[in-house]
Amino acid sequence: MPEPLLRIAIPTPLRRLFDYLPPRGEVAWLPGQRVRVPFGRRQVIGVVAALAVDSDLPRDRLKQATERLDDTPLWPAELLALLTWAADYYHHPLGEVFATAMPVALRDGRAAEPVTQLRYRVTEAGRTVAPAGLARAPRQAALLGRLLASPDGLAAAQLAADDGDARGALQRLVDRGLAAAESLPWAPVAVPASAGPALNPAQADAVEAVAGATGFAPFLLDGVTGSGKTEVYLQLAARTVAAGRQVLVLVPEIGLTPQLLARFRERLGVPVAALHSGLADGERLNAWLAVRDGRAPVLLGTRSAVFTPFRDLGLVILDEEHDASFKQQDGFRYHARDVAVMRASRLAIPIVLGSATPSLESLHNARQRRYRHLLLPARAGGAVAPRIGLLDVRHRPLKEGLSEPLRAAIAHHLAKGGQVLVFLNRRGYAPTLLCHDCGEVQRCRRCDAHLVLYAAGRLRCHHCGHERPVPPRCPACGTGELRPVGHGTERLEQHLAEQFPDAVVLRVDRDSTRRKGSMEALLERVHNGEAGVLVGTQMLAKGHDFPGVTLAAIVDADHGLFSADFRAAERMAQLIVQVAGRAGRAERPGEVVIQTHCPEHPLLVQLVNEGYPRFAEAALAERQATAFPPYGHLALLRAEAVDGDAPLGFLTAARDAARPLAGGVHLLGPVPAPMERRAGRVRAQLLLQADQRAALHRLLEAWLPLVEALPAARKVRWSLDVDPVELY
Ligand code: ADP
Ligand code: ZN
Repeated sequence: MPEPLLRIAIPTPLRRLFDYLPPRGEVAWLPGQRVRVPFGRRQVIGVVAALAVDSDLPRDRLKQATERLDDTPLWPAELLALLTWAADYYHHPLGEVFATAMPVALRDGRAAEPVTQLRYRVTEAGRTVAPAGLARAPRQAALLGRLLASPDGLAAAQLAADDGDARGALQRLVDRGLAAAESLPWAPVAVPASAGPALNPAQADAVEAVAGATGFAPFLLDGVTGSGKTEVYLQLAARTVAAGRQVLVLVPEIGLTPQLLARFRERLGVPVAALHSGLADGERLNAWLAVRDGRAPVLLGTRSAVFTPFRDLGLVILDEEHDASFKQQDGFRYHARDVAVMRASRLAIPIVLGSATPSLESLHNARQRRYRHLLLPARAGGAVAPRIGLLDVRHRPLKEGLSEPLRAAIAHHLAKGGQVLVFLNRRGYAPTLLCHDCGEVQRCRRCDAHLVLYAAGRLRCHHCGHERPVPPRCPACGTGELRPVGHGTERLEQHLAEQFPDAVVLRVDRDSTRRKGSMEALLERVHNGEAGVLVGTQMLAKGHDFPGVTLAAIVDADHGLFSADFRAAERMAQLIVQVAGRAGRAERPGEVVIQTHCPEHPLLVQLVNEGYPRFAEAALAERQATAFPPYGHLALLRAEAVDGDAPLGFLTAARDAARPLAGGVHLLGPVPAPMERRAGRVRAQLLLQADQRAALHRLLEAWLPLVEALPAARKVRWSLDVDPVELY
C-alpha cells in the first residue's frame, strides 16, 4: 500500500486543499496536525485536513512537506468538525479558518508547549502601598496601577511593548518590595472562593432551568441591566466546575475588564484563563494550552475564544449577546454567537445567551421556541429603574450641542453629589471644518469622508487614518477662515469643563483610552468618586458598573433614526437602554435624558413609553414585512479596487453568473458601497437575499467557484460576508 498523501489546508484565499507527500520518516498522521510545506517560493504552515491515497496530480509531481510540527492534533475531533462546518457555512477557505482559530504563536510555527516568560506581579506590600508614597515617581505609580489591574501579572515583553523602556521603573518597584518578578510557564492561579449573594427567585429559577437541562439546551437570559445576570453566570459556572467540567464565557471585546475577571476568580476559586487582544502572543498560547489540557476549568474570552479546545466543555455563556463585536468584520467573517450555539449543539450542552437588550435574531428564536426565554424583570438588590425622558430640542437654542434644560439637569445632579454621564457618539473636536467664505469642507483625499478636527490642531480621517495639520486658511479659496462645525466628545468635554468649573470632567473614547491601562485609570477615577462628569462614546455604554451615576444624557438620538442600515433603529434602541442602565444602579434613583429633534418618532416613543420588549416586537414586525433578518437571510459580496470601474464590473459579471442558479434568491445590486471611496479604493457590493437559508447556501455553493474563475475577479479584491452585520 502506498504511503498516504497529506491534504493540507493552507491560509490563502484559494478555496481548495493542497496535496503533499509526507516528510520522510513521519508516520501515523492525523487531521489537525500542523506541517511546514513549500508553497510557491515560500515555506508556509498548513494543517492536515485529510489523508488521501490519490491526488489529481501524479505522485512524482507532488512536493514533499518539510516537517511536521505537532505530534498530536491541535484540536479534538469535535472542534475540527466545527471548524470544517464553519468553513462550509461561511464559504471561507478552510486554511484561513484554521489559521484564525489558532493563537498567533501557533500560526507562526511555535511548538504547542507552554512558553516560559519573565512576568511581573504586584506583591502584598504593593497592593496596600499608599498612593502618596509614589507621588514623586509617576512612572512607578503608573506601572503599579497596571499591575494592580492584572491579577495574573504582566509579561515583561508586554510591558516593554506598551510603555517603552519600563525596566528601570520596574526594577525600582521590585527593589522596594512592591512588585516581584518570576520566570515561569504561566498558568492561571486560583484564589480562595468567596460566597455571593443569595439569589432572588427569578435568578434562582434561571439557574435551575439551565442546571436541570440535559443535552443541547439554548437559553436566552433576558434581564434588565443590573438584574443580576452575572450572578446567574457565576452560579452556573460554579455548578459546572463542581461537576468536573469546563466553562466557556464569551464577552464583547470591551466587556472583558479586570473587574469581571476578578469577579469570576474570587467567586469560583479555580484558575480562570483569559483570552483577549491585549495579551502578548506567549500569554495567549499559555492560556490556550491551560484550557486545552484542562488545567483551567474556566475560560473568559472575546470573539475568537469560541475556537479554543477544551478537555471537557460542559457549559457556554455568552454575555451581551446583541453586541456587534461578536461578528468578525474582515477575513473569516464568522459570528461568535452563532458558532457558539453550533458548538453547544454538537457537544449536546447548554448555552446561555444573556442581554438586557437581546438581538432581534435571538428574540425571534425565543419566540419560535428554539431558545428558552428566561426573564429577570427587576434590578437585583433593590435598585429602581431610572426615569427616561425625551427632551424635545426643536426651536431651543443649543450651546455646544446642549440645551438649557439638559444643562440645568446636569447642574442639579452634580449639586446633589451624583455623577453624570454624557453620551455622544462622535470622537474628536468637531466632525467637520468648513470655510466661512467659500463653504468648502475639509475632506479626506482617499475617502468619501470629512476630516475630523481635533483640539490639538490636527485633521484626521476616521476611515483610513490619514492625518494632517489644520491649514491656516482655506486651501480652496486661499483666504477664507476655517470654522469647526458640529460637536465631538473633545469639544463637549471642553464646554462642560467651562460650564462646571468645580467638577472634574473626564472623556472616555477610543482616543483617550488608546494607551494600555488608560481605560482602567479613567474608570478608577470614576469609581473613587473623583470624576463628576463623564463624556464618552458608546464605549461608555457597555458593561461598566457606575454606581455613582444618577444622570445619563444622550446628546443626539436622531443619528440612529435616519441611517441607511436596516439595523440602525435596533442599535439605537440597544444603546439608549444600555446607557440608561448606567444610571442609578445602586440605591440612588437615576434619570435619563434623551435630546432629540423627533420626539414623535414612533420607535423612539415606543421605546421610551413601553420599553425595549415592545420596541423589539414592533421592529420585528417591520423586519418581517421587508423579509430582512431574522425573517430573511442575507449574504453580501463586496469588491474593491483602485481602478474605479472594476468593482462594479466584477459584481455585474458575478450577478450574471448567479442568475441561472438563483432559485428563490434575490440579487440586489450591484451598487456602490455607502462610502464609495475608502483609503483610495473604490468599493461596491451585491446583496443576496433569500427567504430560506438553505436556498441561499445552495446558491453560494454552486456560485462561488464561478465567481472565483471570473476574469474580472483578478482586477478586484473581493470577499463574501454570510449573515452580514454591517451592510457597507
Ligand atoms: P447584570 O450582569 O445583570 O448587569 P449583576 O450580576 O452585575 O447584573 O448584578 C448587579 C448588582 O447587583 C451587582 O452589584 C450584584 O452584586 C448585585 N446583585 C446581583 N444579584 C443579587 C442578589 N440576588 N442579591 C443582592 N445583590 C445582588
Ligand atoms: Zn481617509
